[in-house]
Amino acid sequence: MADSTPDPERFRAELVGWLDANAPKSLAGAVGNELEGIWGGRKAIWTNPDAKRWLDACAERGFTAPEWPRAYGGGGLSREQAKVLRQELTRLRMPPPLIGFGLTMIGPVLLQFGTEEQKKQHLPQICRGEIRWCQGYSEPGAGSDLAGLQCRAVLDGEQYVVNGQKIWTSYADQADWMFCLVRTDPTAKKQEGITFLLFDMETPGVTVKPIPLISGSSPFCETFLTDVRVPAKNVLGKVNGGWTVAKALLAHERTMIADAFGGASSGGKSRGLAALARDAVGTEADGAHTRLADASLRHRIAQTEMDTRAFVLTTQRARDAAKAGHGPGPESSMFKIYGTELNQRRMELLVSIAGPQALGWEGPGFDERELDVTRQWLRSRGNTIEGGTSEVQLNIIAKRVLGLPD
Ligand SMILES: Cc1cc2nc3c(=O)[nH]c(=O)nc-3n(C[C@H](O)[C@H](O)[C@H](O)COP(=O)(O)OP(=O)(O)OC[C@H]3O[C@@H](n4cnc5c(N)ncnc54)[C@H](O)[C@@H]3O)c2cc1C
Repeated sequence: MADSTPDPERFRAELVGWLDANAPKSLAGAVGNELEGIWGGRKAIWTNPDAKRWLDACAERGFTAPEWPRAYGGGGLSREQAKVLRQELTRLRMPPPLIGFGLTMIGPVLLQFGTEEQKKQHLPQICRGEIRWCQGYSEPGAGSDLAGLQCRAVLDGEQYVVNGQKIWTSYADQADWMFCLVRTDPTAKKQEGITFLLFDMETPGVTVKPIPLISGSSPFCETFLTDVRVPAKNVLGKVNGGWTVAKALLAHERTMIADAFGGASSGGKSRGLAALARDAVGTEADGAHTRLADASLRHRIAQTEMDTRAFVLTTQRARDAAKAGHGPGPESSMFKIYGTELNQRRMELLVSIAGPQALGWEGPGFDERELDVTRQWLRSRGNTIEGGTSEVQLNIIAKRVLGLPD
């Protein structure tokens, strides 16, 4: 499709016909976020078969990773064509056909640092939603000070033997493969003794234990690694050069978090804001129109909507301005702080609109939307921690964006 129709508007005309035939109507309005999106993977449970049909149809056209090369399962679309695709999906209110750390984190660094063999092995499986990935970075003694990690990998013939513990591994219990930071040279300066390793979660010696959270779910796990044997060819980048890969991946992760919680993908929550407010305070006549009956609430909602819109446009502009093929740089830290704080503000507003109805946990007296507000509000507390805390982002901005001395 991309080669035969390089012009974005001709591409749009073809795309509209294709979407008409392939986008299941039952998914219109479904949210593509961490709680409800299509993650794929070997352990996926397809409660709605249309979700699987939507994934397969898009994967066949390369639309799960529109701008990745076709040779690796992507769509090979130009940036303008990919933008048209996003616009048309938004117009039809279709959720992304696939989400997950494969597309947003490990995929981009595989494209940048992977060998041809690694790209051919992993990228098509990611695009087809066959393999779900998790991130083995944090350890009980290494969070903000990530370079202090202790998980050890020792070369034994053609394999590394890995021993150690990871923590806060999101969805490790549902993931098929892990990208993991390990220490391969304990004598080197801490950033210089780290290697970036990929392995199958079914490898003997990998044990996963979910951690229950206040939000009622258990997306986090502890991951224990005991004599896990990983082929040496699964090193991504250079041995003892993993810190470079790790930092590149974090920039992609921060961009994804900013977008997922504060940006374009958060549209569903904004719709919830106005609808909940209408139910809570009612409406009044305003000439030929109606408006929310509470002036102060009107102002707060309008401000949040404007800030969201401005943020979406700013991230879009930054994406458009980035040189083709270049990943996001340290400026992703600014977007991460703003996007996640914006999401927390939006959640606080939702809770204050819902009042006591936002304190529900289960049972009669609360509808599904109100219970969802409680859970999303609690989930949003983690936004300014995951992918590196806001304080750590401020340090990065001071040092690497503004060039201030240590
Ligand atoms: C929702 C969520 C999902 C996550 N998913 C994953 C995952 O999939 N995989 C993974 O590996 N990890 C994951 N994490 C872990 C996350 O990366 C760490 O929690 C984060 O890096 C902070 O580390 P820590 O929890 O050890 O806190 P600490 O590093 O102990 O920090 C504690 C406090 O000290 C402050 N602080 C620390 N150092 C500095 C400094 N130099 N300057 C100023 N302030 C400082 C921090 O800002 C923080 O307020 C997730 C976390 C959350 C909340």
